[in-house]
Amino acid sequence: MEGFSSLSKIRAALKNEELTLPDLVADYLGRIEEHQELHAFLEVFSDEAQSAALIIQKKISAGTSGKLAGMVIGIKDNICYKDHKVSASSRILENYISPYSATVVDRLLAEDAIIIGRLNCDEFAMGASNESSYYGPVRNYADISKVSGGSSGGAAVAVQADLCLATLGTDTGGSVRQPASFCGVVGLKPTYGRVSRHGIISYASSFDQVGPITQTVEDAALLLEVIAGCDEYDSTASNKSVPLYSHIKPLKVKKKIAYLSDALDSEGLDAEVKAAFERSIARLRAEGHIVEAVSFGLLEYVVPTYYILTMAEASSNLARYDGVHYGFRSPGSIDLETTYKRSRSEGFGAEVKRRIILGTFVLSAGYYDAYYAKAQKVRRLIRERTDEILTKFDFIMLPTAPTPAFSIGEGSDDPVVNYLADIFTVQASLAGIPAISLPAGNNKAGLPLGIQFLGKRFEEGDLLSFSENIEELLKV
Ligand code: GLN
Repeated sequence: MEGFSSLSKIRAALKNEELTLPDLVADYLGRIEEHQELHAFLEVFSDEAQSAALIIQKKISAGTSGKLAGMVIGIKDNICYKDHKVSASSRILENYISPYSATVVDRLLAEDAIIIGRLNCDEFAMGASNESSYYGPVRNYADISKVSGGSSGGAAVAVQADLCLATLGTDTGGSVRQPASFCGVVGLKPTYGRVSRHGIISYASSFDQVGPITQTVEDAALLLEVIAGCDEYDSTASNKSVPLYSHIKPLKVKKKIAYLSDALDSEGLDAEVKAAFERSIARLRAEGHIVEAVSFGLLEYVVPTYYILTMAEASSNLARYDGVHYGFRSPGSIDLETTYKRSRSEGFGAEVKRRIILGTFVLSAGYYDAYYAKAQKVRRLIRERTDEILTKFDFIMLPTAPTPAFSIGEGSDDPVVNYLADIFTVQASLAGIPAISLPAGNNKAGLPLGIQFLGKRFEEGDLLSFSENIEELLKV
């Protein structure tokens, strides 16, 4: 069977009876089986997906199906799904079964999506290569010696390798956009508060957002429409009404786009990524869009600010994994103190421990003002400067990542070097604005590259409409 790139194509094939939903699910299950070397899935819900396919096929035939009927989707392993395991790719939650579903899961199911499995990621979504997963890395389908990106690595590779049509990841500082760029697919981080975080395993609560990874902008828009909106279980989910994003048209309106000159001059920007970025600018200009250089002026502060704040929030969020409440308890637990100490020492991986320790440090009495409080102030400056640029321009354009996918095991031993790889994604996270990564061709070695557009708060409709208009233009 030919792979399908969008739900509308699947729906057309179902409608004229070229395809049945059980056959489509069987085909995806076959591909997942065939591509186990990618290690994208931690668990496949084969039986359930097959039974759901039979039920939803009947609804389609009867004309009573939901908006996502025909969409086979995978979810990152930090999104709770009632009566299913969820581990955040950590040992500490190994074999933990969620007693409830995330709001986004309920919304997918209510619209007849089929959830086919849970996807590998960095442990507690901390990382940018999927190598911190307790269960091992995900491999890039373009070259299996390369990383998938992260933390939603399984979610990006599953779409790249056509193991399902779409996936949901989470993005705290780039985890939907950066793996999407490493895998040549579309990744959208919505505005903070656009999508409920209820049932998402928290990493840094003032940053975390769920976002779709898809082959097309059209499907990203449809998924956002389904998962967005207020939620009585998450007071940070905005009660702004949800536009019908799936009805947006790829309007041929000319836009004003700022690219950050500091980003293009930044150290460590790969030459081919830079060339792809410049090529994209030229193509946008040739289409009549106005693309101008702007100096952001705060680029060197984005990574330290992001890491101080997210580590602080993580140290608090991860206090709940104590060997008593959830998941893993060390066999060496003798009393309360050894239960805490040993379960946490053995249950968490090195990166997670590093972040808990640093996060605790920046919140500690003597250092709170010097680090945490200062980082909050710098976050405000970054947000204000970003908003200021967006009062003069429709979008900000950046490479999604400074390099293409690197080799598995090649990441530096110095965590600071690894953190700097997030330099282009964390600005949107600190500012709480929406951002999308679109495929922008491959480098000479055949590895995908991505371009990112940042939009105004809650203006996903505009960002998606523009993205749909230019997605073919950016591909080579
Ligand atoms: N790489 C970033 C980090 O490690 C982003 C992760 C994310 O968005 N979940 O924090």
